[in-house]
Amino acid sequence: MAISTDELRKNRQDLINQLSVFDGKILRGSVIESYKKCGNPGCKCATGTGHGPKYSMTVNFPKQRPENDYIPLEYVTQVKEYVSNYHQFKEIIEQICMINRELLKRREKL
Ligand SMILES: [Zn+2]
Repeated sequence: MAISTDELRKNRQDLINQLSVFDGKILRGSVIESYKKCGNPGCKCATGTGHGPKYSMTVNFPKQRPENDYIPLEYVTQVKEYVSNYHQFKEIIEQICMINRELLKRREKL
């Protein structure tokens, strides 16, 4: 059985409330972990994985160069959390749009 219009509106309000929980703690981009070799043949990194980890963030833009920046270690946990929040945030927005499309199909008030 199809979900009622009232139910759709209630679900939409729940989703809107969920969005505010993020409190702006979102970041779009990817966190990249890297290990670099220093090039010194006597260094233990010459045979191992390299120095690190070091973290950087890459953000893509349409028709522009990606922005790439180093993340200081003390920010890494927070940045990863913000990036993960962004994906959840986007998912919720998509669900709100789905509900609005359904209301439109039903010719109900948006
Ligand atoms: Zn080294």
